[in-house]
Amino acid sequence: MSLRPILGLAAGLLAATSAFAQTITPQMLRDHVAVLASDAYEGREPGTPGGDRAEAYVLQAFAAAGLQPGAPDGRWRQEVAMTDVRAATIAGTVTRSGKPVALGANQIAGLGLAPTTSITRAPLVFVGRGAPDQMAGTDLTGAVAVVIGGTAPDAPPVPNADRNAALQAAGALGVLLIASAQAPWADVAHSFSELTIAGPVRRPGFTGVVSPDAAQLLLGRSAADLRTAAIVPTFRPVRSDATIDIAATGTARRYTTANIVGMLPGTQRPNEAVLLSAHWDHIGICAPEGAADRICNGAADNASGTAILIEVAKVLAKQPRSPRSVYFVATTAEEKGLIGADAYAAAIADTPLKVVVNLNIDTSAIVPVGMPMAMVGRGNHPAIDAIVDQTARAIGRKVDTDIEANIMVQRQDGWAFGQRGIPAVMATGSVSDMKRLFAYLDGPYHKPTDDMAHIDLTGAAEDADLHVALARALADPARYPTPAAPAQPTK
Ligand SMILES: [Zn+2]
Repeated sequence: MSLRPILGLAAGLLAATSAFAQTITPQMLRDHVAVLASDAYEGREPGTPGGDRAEAYVLQAFAAAGLQPGAPDGRWRQEVAMTDVRAATIAGTVTRSGKPVALGANQIAGLGLAPTTSITRAPLVFVGRGAPDQMAGTDLTGAVAVVIGGTAPDAPPVPNADRNAALQAAGALGVLLIASAQAPWADVAHSFSELTIAGPVRRPGFTGVVSPDAAQLLLGRSAADLRTAAIVPTFRPVRSDATIDIAATGTARRYTTANIVGMLPGTQRPNEAVLLSAHWDHIGICAPEGAADRICNGAADNASGTAILIEVAKVLAKQPRSPRSVYFVATTAEEKGLIGADAYAAAIADTPLKVVVNLNIDTSAIVPVGMPMAMVGRGNHPAIDAIVDQTARAIGRKVDTDIEANIMVQRQDGWAFGQRGIPAVMATGSVSDMKRLFAYLDGPYHKPTDDMAHIDLTGAAEDADLHVALARALADPARYPTPAAPAQPTK
């Protein structure tokens, strides 16, 4: 493998005068994508045979590349326990003064954690925004809590996880959110029909939503009234004079999936790390029975990024070690809500390992060679932006310095890392041209056509070479001396 000068003057001169030989070729990436995006991998959904095959493939490739195992417990796999819950049927009845009124299909939706949920004559308690401090001391044993959202900017929203944990601790059987009038009911109902839980379950046994007009039925007051009441700082939970029956069915699937983690130890600052990441998972079998092609192969999203991660690992493993460590994390369950990335960031938070930058790689195979490098996350960490730009130019890439790609910031694992204080950027040619990006998003994205026949790995190969150079630059304290301050919330 030939090494290319990327630092200092030599690189600057070369950049101005010559094209660069490619180290990582499209064919090298194609060899991995052909396997990971094959029908035998069934779209790589975590907890399925195809997902397990993808994990095994990446683990084997990391080991063959010469990485060391890098998970927090010193192994290759960081396991994540998961539960996927899907709703099937639901019926709700509100009873006031002995008079039952059935809720319609456009008034209640939701799912239970058990295959059958049977709640009978449960008291309804309005808990406002569900802020844990406002609910403190309230006994909700056997009750269904009713929560209202949409109170910002007068009162900030309460994080779902905090609210659910507090409701469970208070003994609530279930929780119902009063939907906002703006959101179409079909979308609201759908978002309460599927749920993926990572780690221990800290929520009531039933989670649902009711339409704004149902508020009157449940609590005897309009949704607007309830919203006004909920933003008063001294708000305390109020018990309704109505009770509710809920009967629901569904399925719950429990399984274990894993991030695959490899690393190359640094020579001077081994506890400081550059973290390269790409999600190995995709959405699995995605078309209904009888469809001609049922498998979402996820060739661009994100077999391409996984292939880049593996090939970058191979190149860096053959080079002299950097002063800082380089970690390679193939994350799981990105498609279920950046779950693997969040689990990794949480797991290392209390260890000596300090990640100085995350470079995420996602969906790199949608543009040809020659596209400028653009960034998702540009503007949050100017020191990192400057090094990325300089490094890209030094290897002959054009640089697109606008921030339009930031519309993708919450849709990739770098967001999960950023939320836990790790500075994160995604540098790729795939997000430079919005027309091309949207052609992909409106086209093969999350469809069976995101397959080998519809990808272009020439741009991806350029991105791969870029990541070799970026990892070396950012793993060198002489070039990137002071780790960036904790991530600012992205505007
Ligand atoms: Zn995706």
